[in-house]
Amino acid sequence: MATFKDFRNKVKPNWCPGCGDFSVQAAIQRAAANVGLEPENLAVISGIGCSGRISGYINAYGLHGIHGRALPIAQGVKLANRDLTVIASGGDGDGFAIGMGHTVHAIRRNINITYIVMDNQIYGLTKGQTSPRSGEGFKTKSTPEGSIESTLSPLEVAIAAGATFVAQSFSSDLKQLTSLIEQGIQHEGFSLINVFSPCVTFNKVNTYDWFKENIINLDTLEGYDSTNRLAAMTKLMETGSMITGLIYQNKEKKSYENLVYGFSQEPLAHQSLALSQAEFDNL
Ligand code: SF4
Ligand code: MG
Repeated sequence: MATFKDFRNKVKPNWCPGCGDFSVQAAIQRAAANVGLEPENLAVISGIGCSGRISGYINAYGLHGIHGRALPIAQGVKLANRDLTVIASGGDGDGFAIGMGHTVHAIRRNINITYIVMDNQIYGLTKGQTSPRSGEGFKTKSTPEGSIESTLSPLEVAIAAGATFVAQSFSSDLKQLTSLIEQGIQHEGFSLINVFSPCVTFNKVNTYDWFKENIINLDTLEGYDSTNRLAAMTKLMETGSMITGLIYQNKEKKSYENLVYGFSQEPLAHQSLALSQAEFDNL
């Protein structure tokens, strides 16, 4: 049986020392081992950005795709081989700016994959510009007077779009993050896990200490019901989306694969795609 170490390859991550993405990778490895996967059962598909490099560091099937397009590729991988556990991953710029159209439609399609977003509220790879997740007034080289645009709340968008699994965590909370990734993998449908993953090099506002001071862990709130869609939306709006934990889960809605006629048969990857001579002759 594979351990978390089996999901690490020999490539040394070139993230800056202290980058939150190291912990996200560790949590993915642990979660994969904890749910009983072997490296050959897993595919990690990523987009472009510092966090997008993650697919090159995990010992599994992997594809480092193009900017904002991790989800279309990941959905294709899953539909072609439904035996694989598929994780899509990337940053907030990748998934919530250029890729936001794909994100919304992947959510409402509810294909059984897990999307992990490393949200550092900035564009790190291109050396620090304002992202859709940056706070109002946030100063960067692209917004020297401070951002005047509203900050996007992707989790509110996700719930409005019909998401069946919405969670959020902090890269420093490895235990919670690992558990949420395990739950996301086991969820029968699309799971979105947004992870506050600080960029220590370019974001000097949303630091580890800032997150520690501002995060509200749902586990500490009495009576929170993660099956209540309205309560989830209300809590996100009340807190400026600063909650961590399992925010919303709907186990009733069937996944896309379960609803498509004939998909209960062999995955595409196991079928012969070419017509045999006999099949051709009988057309
Ligand atoms: Fe991480 Fe920021 Fe460095 Fe990119 S620039 S590796 S996001 S710390
Ligand atoms: Mg980012």
